[in-house]
Amino acid sequence: MTPDPTTQNPPIQPTVSAYAQPAEAELELSLRPRLLGEFIGQPRVREQLELLLRSAQRRGSPPDHILLSGPPGLGKTSLAMIVAAELEAPIRVTSGPAIERSGDLAAILTSLSEGDVLFIDEIHRIAKPAEELLYSAMEDFRVDVVVGKGPGATAIPLDVAPFTLVGATTRSGLLTGPMRDRFGFVARLDFYDPAELEHVVARSAGILKVDITPEGVSEIAGRSRGTPRIANRLLRRVRDYAEVRADGVVSLDVASAALRVYDVDSIGLDRLDRGVLQTLITAYGGGPVGLTTLAMAVGEEPDTVEEVAEPYLVRCGLLARTSRGRVATPAAWQHLGVTPTPAASGRLPGAATHSVQEHSGTVPMALWGDQE
Ligand code: ADP
Repeated sequence: MTPDPTTQNPPIQPTVSAYAQPAEAELELSLRPRLLGEFIGQPRVREQLELLLRSAQRRGSPPDHILLSGPPGLGKTSLAMIVAAELEAPIRVTSGPAIERSGDLAAILTSLSEGDVLFIDEIHRIAKPAEELLYSAMEDFRVDVVVGKGPGATAIPLDVAPFTLVGATTRSGLLTGPMRDRFGFVARLDFYDPAELEHVVARSAGILKVDITPEGVSEIAGRSRGTPRIANRLLRRVRDYAEVRADGVVSLDVASAALRVYDVDSIGLDRLDRGVLQTLITAYGGGPVGLTTLAMAVGEEPDTVEEVAEPYLVRCGLLARTSRGRVATPAAWQHLGVTPTPAASGRLPGAATHSVQEHSGTVPMALWGDQE
């Protein structure tokens, strides 16, 4: 029988989550790039956006609605702010979960002025009736507000000033077809490569006045999971360490010692990432395991595992999503220093044989908690 890891292991909290933590809001604001020229990386998206914005400015009309998708922390909110700044337009900010009733959205839409930018974060979580109201606002710049209930209800058409919607989503797959079709510009943000992250770390170190060597910069960049938000957070943690335990200078040695304290391993995996891989390998012989079971086993919400941990693990080639569930790849076994069991070898993606055997449960659970 498959052991229940939740009863044997402590739940894992992501120490290096790509989601913003509430206390970080103000700090993030100071580090946010304000104009396209300051936005590092994503060259294609930047170029396309620049064309979109400049041509709209020439025509003197608001640009098409913009959809930005990609894992958290890659710069979607920053780009939304940049769109407004480049257009020199006011921006209204809300989020899908905040719009519970279509009336909430109607109030926002009808208060917009011509050329305003409306940013809706997590747009895939907007309530259905509000989503339908958004369709007509996006397409025809009008909304029908229903007054009253039952047979006596009447729809009052209201004009909406021409505006630009910027929608952001970590789950573009959950957007409905009609919603996606109403965006004239759709961009997917990718994880950043190490050189781009070095640029992010060096820029933020300059703003925060952190004394850092080039080797310190690359050490932090290399462990930031391709994500600027994490790069900035690691920089702040490493700075703390440098001030308390060293002479304040972030060198290679100081950075790696600090990152060990914060549980970030050599390729940037944090406790949640490693927890996912270790659970897959130690408790389920490498998988396949369904997302919900896996999430329960690591003590996290399925959404967190799917949106925060998995995209990077897949990108690193450590985890595969198959039709039968999540599977640890040979590289994952290797990264954790475990030899695949014969049964697991048969199930690994790309294995010549596909014999699926029941998990033997013989992989030592002591692996849990191993670092690096
Ligand atoms: P998202 O909305 O995708 O979660 P954000 O736009 O809030 O991500 O970015 C998180 C933080 O990462 C920002 O405060 C900013 O400091 C930093 N950041 C993101 N993208 C970039 C970038 N391209 N260049 C510089 N800093 C960036």
